[in-house]
Amino acid sequence: MLRHEIISQLKKIIGKEGVLTAKEDLSTYSYDATTIWTHMPEVVVLPTTTEQVSQVLKLANENKIPVTPRGGGTNISGGSIPIKGGIVLCTTKMNKILGINKTNLSANVEPGVILQDFKTTLAKEGLFYPPDPQSFLGCTLGGTVAENAGGPYCVKYGVTKQYVLGLEVVLANGYVMKIGSTTVKNRTGYDLVMLFTGSEGTLGVITKITVRLLPMPLANKTMLAVFDDMTAGGQAVSNILAGGVIPAKLEFVDNFFIRRVEEIMPTGLPVDANALLLIQTDGSPAAVEAESQQILDILKRSGAGEVRLAKDTAEADMYWKARSAAYAAIYSVAYTVLLEDVTVPRDRLAELIQKTGEISKKYGIVISILGHAGDGNLHPNILTDMRDKENFAKAEEAMVEIFDTALALGGVISGEHGIGLEKKPFLKKALDPVAIEIMKGIKKILDPNNILNPDKIWEEEEKGA
Ligand SMILES: Cc1cc2nc3c(=O)[nH]c(=O)nc-3n(C[C@H](O)[C@H](O)[C@H](O)COP(=O)(O)OP(=O)(O)OC[C@H]3O[C@@H](n4cnc5c(N)ncnc54)[C@H](O)[C@@H]3O)c2cc1C
Repeated sequence: MLRHEIISQLKKIIGKEGVLTAKEDLSTYSYDATTIWTHMPEVVVLPTTTEQVSQVLKLANENKIPVTPRGGGTNISGGSIPIKGGIVLCTTKMNKILGINKTNLSANVEPGVILQDFKTTLAKEGLFYPPDPQSFLGCTLGGTVAENAGGPYCVKYGVTKQYVLGLEVVLANGYVMKIGSTTVKNRTGYDLVMLFTGSEGTLGVITKITVRLLPMPLANKTMLAVFDDMTAGGQAVSNILAGGVIPAKLEFVDNFFIRRVEEIMPTGLPVDANALLLIQTDGSPAAVEAESQQILDILKRSGAGEVRLAKDTAEADMYWKARSAAYAAIYSVAYTVLLEDVTVPRDRLAELIQKTGEISKKYGIVISILGHAGDGNLHPNILTDMRDKENFAKAEEAMVEIFDTALALGGVISGEHGIGLEKKPFLKKALDPVAIEIMKGIKKILDPNNILNPDKIWEEEEKGA
């Protein structure tokens, strides 16, 4: 239990209204978008300034109190669960867009800005920030940087790390460090911006972010291709990429997903299709026209049945809305969903799809597949019920087999969701042991008392700190 005196000091730093201790408030911060962990924090703080974050960390460090940074709490790896209790430091009140520079094509934001709010503000200026995790209505810029989030647009535009130019980070001892710059090029020493991007709240609290922007593409087109065979759908993805065209988005969804979406929000998706590819091209009108035609030809040669070209923005929006409803569709059918995130080289995608189907049959467990296929990134969703021990054990075995398959295909166990609590038992399989030791060494330098998001990324007994 935190001493009463610590709570009083937190109230002095933040103000009473920014310190939550009531059980019903704390429970709101005890879980994230995973469905298998919860843990109550002892206190939640909602700072509004960097100075407050610095003072909270200084106090926590001196008293060796765990601090779990949190944005929107939408991550799917257990990253923002305060597994060791202590303080949850939630940045949602640090939510100002501090500046947009149209000439430098950059913006400076606080970490608690909601991604969709940022995108809407930019769109009014004709500007575009591509990273688009499908939690855009609830996730924060800070959370997306801490997870190095991806999303459908990343096939053409890259993931969050490709857009982070500079950061202000508060270290575990309260020191406020500025790294990176507002320039698009910067070769000054080791790239610490990249180190903090994707560090899952274990190395410091991000309090300001400078990102690179792009002009909004002038035109776009959406198409939908139907496949009778899931593996052929996967092969079509490789054929498109090998065909010399990189679409803006290239998503794969399976029949389970199609039927669920049609149940909860009828969209007119073909319910008999075994797989769909949902594709968007963007750029100048002439380029969009030419690339769409090129993709249509490749789809036909790759065995697609029906291919629909959205006739207008309303039809295109309807398909993309259906895609972003994926998790609502899937989470509502099972008590527990193990939402995986394996990624393979893009020429091995068809094999991953086929093997995942075999694993589903072998364990007699429903595994619905969707994902950012253009990145080789699939989300096999293993539907189970953690209250049913036998079924859950089978689901976990299936999950391990999916990880092993991805690794055997030259892939990775997480493309975008991070390690958090969920994948830490598998880190040893996925990384060189020396690389793990180097990571632990970095953690020890930056957070010697191991207060920042402890017990994440690697197993407790492995903690170097
Ligand atoms: C419906 C749905 C769809 C999703 N789709 C995608 C997708 O397409 N692509 C994708 O990549 N992810 C996706 N996600 C996962 C998730 O939304 C992302 O990981 C997102 O980046 C999390 O942002 P957040 O603000 O919710 O962070 P949180 O969940 O609050 O935190 C995530 C991690 O970042 C740390 N953190 C948060 N803020 C800070 C900070 N200021 N400083 C330091 N550390 C911090 C936390 O400690 C935690 O480890 C999806 C999730 C859901 C629920």
